[in-house]
Amino acid sequence: MNKVLGIDLGTTYSCVSYIDASGKPVVQKNSEGELTTPSVVLFESPNNVVVGTPAKESSKLYPEDVVSFVKRSIGQPGAAWYIQGADRSPEEVSSYILKKVVGDAVTALQGEGKLGPGELITDVVITCPAYFGIAEREATRKAGELAGLNVLNIINEPTAAAITYGVSDLSDNKVVLVYDLGGGTFDITMIDISSNAVKVICTGGDHSLGGKLWDDRIIEYVAGEFARQTRSTVDILSDMETFQELSLSVERAKKMLSARDKAPIAVNFGGDRARVELTREKFDALTGDLLERTILLTQEMLEEAAKKGYDKSAFAEILMVGGSTRMPQVKARIQKEFSVPVKIFDPDESVAKGAAIFANRQAFFSEVIEKTAAETGKSESQVRREIQSGKAKVKELAQKVEMETEDAGDTADIDIINVTSRSFGTIAFRSLKESAPAEVENEEESAEPAEVLYNMILKNAELPAAQVKKFFTVADEQRTVTIRVLESLSSEEIAAPDEGTEIGEAILELPEGLPAGSPIEIEFILGDGGLLELEAKENTGGRTVSARFETADAISESEFKMAKQRIEDAAVF
Ligand code: AMP
Repeated sequence: MNKVLGIDLGTTYSCVSYIDASGKPVVQKNSEGELTTPSVVLFESPNNVVVGTPAKESSKLYPEDVVSFVKRSIGQPGAAWYIQGADRSPEEVSSYILKKVVGDAVTALQGEGKLGPGELITDVVITCPAYFGIAEREATRKAGELAGLNVLNIINEPTAAAITYGVSDLSDNKVVLVYDLGGGTFDITMIDISSNAVKVICTGGDHSLGGKLWDDRIIEYVAGEFARQTRSTVDILSDMETFQELSLSVERAKKMLSARDKAPIAVNFGGDRARVELTREKFDALTGDLLERTILLTQEMLEEAAKKGYDKSAFAEILMVGGSTRMPQVKARIQKEFSVPVKIFDPDESVAKGAAIFANRQAFFSEVIEKTAAETGKSESQVRREIQSGKAKVKELAQKVEMETEDAGDTADIDIINVTSRSFGTIAFRSLKESAPAEVENEEESAEPAEVLYNMILKNAELPAAQVKKFFTVADEQRTVTIRVLESLSSEEIAAPDEGTEIGEAILELPEGLPAGSPIEIEFILGDGGLLELEAKENTGGRTVSARFETADAISESEFKMAKQRIEDAAVF
């Protein structure tokens, strides 16, 4: 077998897949015998961490020692839970989930003789919602590093699902919509699958819209029913234990409603007891607006796709992935809206499997690049650029360095093309007289310069994307230019600064003696994993200065080091 893993690090459940000897992705069970592991972490003691179903079941007994839905906080600066004597960042909490699922998979594979005794797998691809911005992607990568993993890439969940789907049938060229409704996020993505490429056309969604919101609606309803039936004025949801217990029973009831018409929910609090019989009609009425929001977001994405030449009749089918698409009302509503076949496709496993296929392909690419560089004397980044620009083909390079091309599995020849879910730009002044922006000022005199967000790379641009633009200095003898980098959901080249979120900055130092209006060049490069690099140059008189952009880390270096030590010291079950 090839020694890579694909990990679907979900809001509510996580799943891990490897590539078997025949090149097919297989989901590995955890030590509890489950194909998916609840993304729930219980800190039993500083050095004993329990992840998965046992942690989920303990959440009502030890609510203050348990973290659920950590993915909702990943990438948010300052987010942390103080548990067992330490502030646990979302990166740290997520790393225990990764350590658990990878550890269990490796132990099982060793037991099955697929790995040698003591042999490990550290190369992984982790998935994230298409809608994640840079900070969330970086934080996901950090969680992997904390768990001792070598994160080859972070790829989008719907892309991963489409890879699995595409690879299972590459004979047919088709455009599909992937409707991905998970535990915490909703992604809607249009993907063009052909015999030699899986290409993302357009993506949209909402990363706070998922099954958890359906649960919350039931919780509110049940709390209201409790108050009505018992005439109690106490807010039962302010009691952590009751809330945790209700969260578990409500999720069970919701799942039951996917197969039956009614589900009972009982609540005990302060000696009072209420029983609620939740019908499917009531559930639909409580959550109908959430489902409508997914339709609205789908329509918005279709409008974007139309701008790229894919009109509403372009797609041939809709693939439904993510656990929440098991709710029958979801499929029924989609079916009513669109008159194409709607398929529920391997909702729990397709994302992890696609990540494993991608990891396998990427490991193969890396080896090809490394060997080609060694044989030709070129640098690895030079070889990579030649592949990315289409100058060189991976399979041909592999043959030249005498590698077995079957090692790449079914996807060696397939291009996997992704798009960015955000626009990336910088703040510049622009003359009110004309539309061209300038880092501070235009070539032509401007009476009233206005600050704008100038988007260098637009949402839904194909990845990798690169854009160079000339800007100009404002003042004589200007010695530095601060390039503020913002990400946004705007699809316009020029947007208002408050539409964006600042994600970092780069400082370009200038030589002495430059007059105002000196040109500088800024380049944004967005890699295929959605990570951003920036270069800025001043080349008057042959001088070139470069500035490198670093994303503002949600977790500081010292916190990272302390968390790494805790994770290494902890036994994770
Ligand atoms: P995912 O993030 O794709 O693993 O999806 C998990 C979400 O799917 C959670 O909110 C689950 O409660 C929900 N889910 C899983 N199975 C079902 C089911 N049978 N009916 C309704 N929701 C489900």
